[in-house]
Amino acid sequence: LLELCGVEKRFGDFAALKGVSLTLAAGSVTCLVGPSGSGKSTLLRTVNLLETIDGGGIYLRGEMLGFTGRGDHRRPVPKKVARRQAVNFGMVFQSFNLIPQLTATENVALGPVEVLGTGRAAARGQARELLGRVGLAQRCEHYPAELSGGQQQRVAIARALAMKPSVLLFDEPTSALDAELVAEVLAVIRELAKEGYTMLIVTHELAFARDIADEVIMMDEGRIVESGPPAKILLEPETERAKRFFASVQ
Ligand code: ATP
Ligand code: MG
Repeated sequence: LLELCGVEKRFGDFAALKGVSLTLAAGSVTCLVGPSGSGKSTLLRTVNLLETIDGGGIYLRGEMLGFTGRGDHRRPVPKKVARRQAVNFGMVFQSFNLIPQLTATENVALGPVEVLGTGRAAARGQARELLGRVGLAQRCEHYPAELSGGQQQRVAIARALAMKPSVLLFDEPTSALDAELVAEVLAVIRELAKEGYTMLIVTHELAFARDIADEVIMMDEGRIVESGPPAKILLEPETERAKRFFASVQ
């Protein structure tokens, strides 16, 4: 479904991604782990077209994202095309990023109305249905400030689902939450995995990764160090770097 080939990203002189290649099969769950600063968020942001890349390519169903043409002739796609391509990805951030002046329903309905052109009433109906799916049927008319962190993050997940994305991207969805709220958010993500959503999840929750992931990818300094099925990579990592990392977080 989604393929990254030798993706490079620089910030000035600093190479944040040094040739990252990976493939997400349709319906698969991939967890991305690695130390702080290894490039995990940058990788998600390039997939999402929030950052342009400096080398390599990102392909969704074989279509190159963000650029047209080849080699030296390639150039960024027009903004309008980039926006259409970005709609394929639903992103859930560590810090929820809900709009404080809007209720849960309005937060979820906003994207479909503004970007997909869905009618207001239909978008609100769909929003309430999605909020029900993440266990918030009773909280639809609440404002973000009236919701717990776990509830806010579930609204953010419903908001991502409302755009009917091909791939869901999660950037440390539980790291801003108190321990007792982590489980409810992970349970929703686990449910989405069962429903067959294709997901790329940056997480420090290794037990969760072991449970949910088809593949775990470990990054360090802008490169993939090691990848494989969770049972293999988490329990018997091959590289010294991965051994050290998993020993430090477990
Ligand atoms: P963490 O676990 O702390 O979230 P990460 O793996 O998500 O780390 P990134 O946020 O992807 O790491 O950052 C990778 C590197 O790129 C870091 O060294 C960071 O300082 C740098 N970087 C990220 N965004 C920018 C930017 N907009 N400008 C300059 N440098 C950046
Ligand atoms: Mg990050």
